[in-house]
Amino acid sequence: MKAVVKRKRARGMEFIEVPTPKAGPRDVLIRVRIASICGTDVHIHDWTRWAQHRFTPPRIIGHEFVGDVEKIGEEVTQVKVGDRVSAESHLTCGSCYQCKNGYSEVCRNFKLLGVDHDGTFGEYLVLPEHVLWKNDEKIPDEWATIQEPFGNAVDTVLAEDISAKTVLILGAGPIGLFATGIARACGASLIVVSDPNNYRLAISKKMGAHITVNPRRQDIIQLVLGATHNNGVDVVLEFSGNNQALGQGLKAVTPGGRVSILGIYERRVSIDLNKEVIFKKIRIYGITGRKVFSTWHKTSQFLSSGLVDPGPIVTHQFPLKDYGKGMKLMKDGKCGKVVLYV
Ligand code: NAD
Ligand code: ZN
Repeated sequence: MKAVVKRKRARGMEFIEVPTPKAGPRDVLIRVRIASICGTDVHIHDWTRWAQHRFTPPRIIGHEFVGDVEKIGEEVTQVKVGDRVSAESHLTCGSCYQCKNGYSEVCRNFKLLGVDHDGTFGEYLVLPEHVLWKNDEKIPDEWATIQEPFGNAVDTVLAEDISAKTVLILGAGPIGLFATGIARACGASLIVVSDPNNYRLAISKKMGAHITVNPRRQDIIQLVLGATHNNGVDVVLEFSGNNQALGQGLKAVTPGGRVSILGIYERRVSIDLNKEVIFKKIRIYGITGRKVFSTWHKTSQFLSSGLVDPGPIVTHQFPLKDYGKGMKLMKDGKCGKVVLYV
């Protein structure tokens, strides 16, 4: 089969012929229809510091997809040949303290698809049946593939009550854009979205942002105070991974409010705990991955019911062999989500 493989400990990747993987007794062989590109894949392509410490070549990359079950192992009971599936990208152990207590998103032994296990950027993929998700027939392929990052946004937005709340969303990358649609669907009364990228701010308007702000041109704090009767926002959702943006979020949140953080920071963040957290009595939530599978159920409901239309976010489509074009667009921030037809 053909696949996108990271073979060398250096910049770049290769689109090459590799052996089709074989499924064990509890595994499923899937024929991939569409895979989508995540920032993680770009890190691996560019061989950033994170990738150098975390990734061991050779490996087929990618963790977002939709595909069809082609073959099942003899002990598989949950899916059948022909089912249209996607999958939770955290391949969890099921037996550690966290897995046994309902927190498998922080499984101590999890393997990441496309990093520790051959990924979705190939014609075929083998996965254990316990991570598979059967797709609702009402969800088109181009949306089914993005359910994994959509789920990140679901958990960040819904970490606490959102309806009739004022919200500041920091970062309008694909996940911040999903969150904008989700917050709007859940009845947030005011959604302010901040990003230095005007192309992405324009998409956030389509997703339901009431006010967009470019933090390089405008004073976010003044804007937020002006829009909230000088109160600050009830909810800050951080999707930029930018230290300065988080600092703005901590200033913009009203005393007694909450800050949910999905963004991942390259540099250590410093916070004035007394002033910005304790005496403001705010709650900070770290969000990682998704709840398996309750987040997938919510994601499926948002997409199949029409509550959220992610159409404006899926901006580019390429055949798999042109993955490099998609990665370039992502690096330049000239896209929303890029999907690859396998
Ligand atoms: P992305 O890189 O596409 O989006 C980040 C956005 O933040 C970009 O549009 C960028 O222009 C914007 N930005 C940069 N500086 C900013 C600033 N000062 N103020 C406001 N916006 C700013 O990323 P994504 O795929 O949408 O993911 C969002 C974040 O979540 C990333 O940091 C990613 O690493 C992280 N992430 C975390 C998890 C997890 O499980 N915790 C999972 C997936 C992604
Ligand atoms: Zn575990």
